[in-house]
Amino acid sequence: MVDMYEKLGSTTKNLEMTDILAGFLKKVDNNLISDCVKLVLGRVFPLWSDQVVGVASSLMVKSLKKSTGLSEEDILIYWKDTGDLGLTAEKAVSKKTQKTLSSQKLSVEKVIENIRKVSSFEGAGTVEKKTDLIAELIASSSPEEAKYITRTVLGVLRMGVGAGIMRDAVAQAFEVDSDFVERAYYLSSDFGEVGKIACEGGEEELKKFNIRIERPIMVMLAQKAEDLEEGFSKVGKPAAIELKYDGMRVQIHKNKEEIYVFTRRLENVTKQFPEIVSATKKYVKCEQCVLEGEAVGYGPKGEHIPFQKISRRIKRKYGIEEMAKQIPIETKVFDIIFLDGKETMSLPFAKRRELLEEIVEQKKRSIVLTEQLITSDLEEAEKFYEKGLKQGEEGIMMKNLEAEYKPGSRVGYMVKLKPEIDPVDLVIVGSEWGEGKRANWLSSFLLACYDKVNDKFLTIGKMATGLTDKQFEEITERLKPLIISEKGRKVTVKPETVVEIGYQEIQKSPTYESKFALRFPRLIRIRDDKKPEEADSLEKIKEIHGG
Ligand code: AMP
Repeated sequence: MVDMYEKLGSTTKNLEMTDILAGFLKKVDNNLISDCVKLVLGRVFPLWSDQVVGVASSLMVKSLKKSTGLSEEDILIYWKDTGDLGLTAEKAVSKKTQKTLSSQKLSVEKVIENIRKVSSFEGAGTVEKKTDLIAELIASSSPEEAKYITRTVLGVLRMGVGAGIMRDAVAQAFEVDSDFVERAYYLSSDFGEVGKIACEGGEEELKKFNIRIERPIMVMLAQKAEDLEEGFSKVGKPAAIELKYDGMRVQIHKNKEEIYVFTRRLENVTKQFPEIVSATKKYVKCEQCVLEGEAVGYGPKGEHIPFQKISRRIKRKYGIEEMAKQIPIETKVFDIIFLDGKETMSLPFAKRRELLEEIVEQKKRSIVLTEQLITSDLEEAEKFYEKGLKQGEEGIMMKNLEAEYKPGSRVGYMVKLKPEIDPVDLVIVGSEWGEGKRANWLSSFLLACYDKVNDKFLTIGKMATGLTDKQFEEITERLKPLIISEKGRKVTVKPETVVEIGYQEIQKSPTYESKFALRFPRLIRIRDDKKPEEADSLEKIKEIHGG
């Protein structure tokens, strides 16, 4: 496995990576395919699983100390030098003073077994047990193996193998059509399982793969349109136009009395949203189905409440009923993927909507269908859009009436349209060194606005997306000379670099000094033309926030 990892790490070309991976998969034992595929993707559990390994860097350091006999000090120095615990582990094992008791060679089974066991421990008193399990792996590792195991345990392996490369590698290794691989992956949310099916059953079995109730699928995503005309040109005329609600996308699986609710990121949130469960039980008239909708919070007068508020309910473990009373939600259903034993994805959207109308008994403040208008008329569409915005919705979705449902893809069967928000100019005041392949780059950037009154920069959010590899490199080079202090991976930089930042929303937040936070900040460009004091001010941020 390590040879393959090293080869993968030595190239950034997709085709070469696919070849390396396919060659490796061909040689793997059938019963190990599923685990090997997951490992390459940096996981020990499938994507749909809620299980996490849950090992912090400090525990990893303890395991390295225990398995190598080196002092914690030495390990921390290696860590500071490399900025990457994977490389630290590699170095520590190559210098280890402790001879391994068992000279047992490390197997994929053992690695998976121990890491999974680690994740099964919870709460106080488990640190020792976790440390031992990881130390056991490191003790029988070569330096390279230790590097990859450490990154896997910490969830930062990043071999540069995305879903596209894995799809092509599985197709190539087992001589099956990559479209079937992709489809099975989107429906199973488990590349390990898909690899195993392709290996053992070939194309015949892959083709048969269907949705399973209780297993979340990867949902169809929307493209963006700049205006209504572009929207119509993408989805055709007439189009279904729906209000775009600012809520949480939910996938509801119903199997008679059993109901499961998943988020767009495949998290199982059934327990957190009892009202979605009861509404589905009561008002969805079928034996089995998979529905998609937006869960929208509402206030005392029935007004819609922004997503930010209901998002607090996602991670809740206790006091759920109480939260459900405080921030009740209504489910706005907009699609159906499976109905009574049959997938409905290949039906045209208009037909799917008809099915929804048949099976969902609409009940206000519980479960309804999304508000929809079918039109070819630009003016009519415009009125609908304006009405939505006035009502406080986010915008509209335009949908192709003839199109099938395509899981996992951002095809243009559904496009979103929302008003543009002007970007803000902010200053970078801090950053963090990356991990894995990004160890030499600064990877996340702390942004600040300018407090004119006190002549201070106040933090307002962290940005880690919207950058190409080249930009990461460029910004790292710029910021390096500006570093004032370092602590662990975190650095403070002199406030000099102004960046133009796009975002979805400004929210109030206790996390940052400005008491505001940007939702989904992304880099648009570096503003070399601006001095830090010319960045947007706290007053401006307050004004945009509107309260
Ligand atoms: P975005 O998150 O900006 O890519 O917009 C797409 C998201 O809008 C979907 O994933 C849904 O969560 C949400 N949404 C809100 N209303 C609708 C609707 N009527 N149809 C489809 N998606 C909707």
